[in-house]
Amino acid sequence: DGPVHAKIDGAVVMIGFGSIGRGTLPLIERHFDYDREKFLVIDPADKGCEELRARGIPHLQVALTPENYREVLGKVLTPGAGFCVNLSIDTSSLDLMRYCREIGVPYIDTVVEPWAGFYFDTDDNAARTNYALRQAVRDEKAANPGGTTAVSCCGANPGMVSWFVKAALLRLAEDTGADAATPTTRDGWAALMQSLGVKGIHIAERDTQARRTPRPRNVFVNTWSVEGFIAEGFQPAELGWGTHETWFPENGHRHETGCQSGIWLERPGAITRVHSWCPTPGPQFGFLVTHNEAISIADYYTAGTGAAPEYRPTCHYAYHPCDDAVLSLHEMFGSGRQQEVHHILGEDEIVEGIDELGVLLFGHEKNALWYGSRLSNEEALQLAPDQNATGLQVTSAVLAGMVWALENPGAGIVETDELDHARCLEIQAPYLGPVEAHYTDWTPLQDRWQHFPEDIDESDPWQFRNVLAT
Ligand code: NAD
Repeated sequence: DGPVHAKIDGAVVMIGFGSIGRGTLPLIERHFDYDREKFLVIDPADKGCEELRARGIPHLQVALTPENYREVLGKVLTPGAGFCVNLSIDTSSLDLMRYCREIGVPYIDTVVEPWAGFYFDTDDNAARTNYALRQAVRDEKAANPGGTTAVSCCGANPGMVSWFVKAALLRLAEDTGADAATPTTRDGWAALMQSLGVKGIHIAERDTQARRTPRPRNVFVNTWSVEGFIAEGFQPAELGWGTHETWFPENGHRHETGCQSGIWLERPGAITRVHSWCPTPGPQFGFLVTHNEAISIADYYTAGTGAAPEYRPTCHYAYHPCDDAVLSLHEMFGSGRQQEVHHILGEDEIVEGIDELGVLLFGHEKNALWYGSRLSNEEALQLAPDQNATGLQVTSAVLAGMVWALENPGAGIVETDELDHARCLEIQAPYLGPVEAHYTDWTPLQDRWQHFPEDIDESDPWQFRNVLAT
């Protein structure tokens, strides 16, 4: 079915068997040599029980909490071996990664997730940012450098898109006749981006997957975790804040501590719209939903330090989820309450559509370059079981990150910007459908409705002021 990439001795423990866990399992089965009797799923939900039982997969039906996680994991992980694959919600990535490293177990997750309550139990919006969540992981790395590898935020985005940024930069260098030698250090990558004149990056996504029947009222429909999307959608909008910006949003806030690569807006991301571009629709509105990669990419490509470095790109998510999710958000924010019924579109009910997920590098000599995966659900069905196109972009990144961790066991805490992008994409590419580069002459000043005055800067197309829709 596919190459075995590595051998794993000891227990492989998967925390969370939702849409991403379920899709990651067949890739682990296909690409690793491990003892199947030592594979274990930890998940409190009833949902996956029957399937796991039918497939003979050991399942511990328990919710990890701050009080029990050491005891529960201590009983099932193999010190100095195995793997901990965290694909759950409501568990602290930082605590789990710290414990795994203490006992020498490689670790991976797809988001810096907090314990339950973090997203909604405080009115302090600065404390609810991804900046704060990420900075805590960076502080842990700084306090405890090296040691057992723990890969932070290795899904599609955050995750794969960081590898696309590097591939896109090399492509842009080649296409503009610049020195296209692959940099070998973070400073080198930042210098390459700066020398190519990149002002910023949208993580530009359009999900067109749809089922045949219309969305019923009072049901939140999405192509991945509904809880996860609602939680991040209610966090403040956040972005990496680039050095080319000449304007500052009235509702914007900087951070006083940490790397200072990002800012946050006093507004939920899932109702903050931005003008962006993807190959299928061309110009489109995306939502400025906060994501770890907006902060990490802006940080990674910084030349200098602090709030006013020599160079830093602007970076943020511009997400057009599937149409049913857009309607679900509209209904939820309009009514002031969450729908009680949540539904993730299954691979078998989706009748059309692709998840087009890439990076739009803008402001350079060739204006803008979109580089990414245009995976259809139809193709995903041929490539791997138990997931839609969105899922496969995530789970194949988890696979790549696990292989990298096993090949680099003493790398400490790492983000995907810090991994070998070529090796990771080599492992992941068979699952991504068409991976394409598209140049466009579109800018946020084009294709606007002309009938009303807007607060924009017509002299400088790629200002965030023009990207942000009012
Ligand atoms: P899901 O909601 O389908 O599944 C989450 C699972 O976690 C559920 O089965 C739930 O029962 C389990 N869970 C809840 N509380 C738990 C606890 N205390 N201990 C153990 N398990 C618990 O979500 P999903 O779509 O599978 O997403 C999983 C995670 O992956 C989320 O954190 C999501 O944000 C993240 N994600 C990342 C990306 C990316 O590209 N980086 C993409 C999609 C999802």
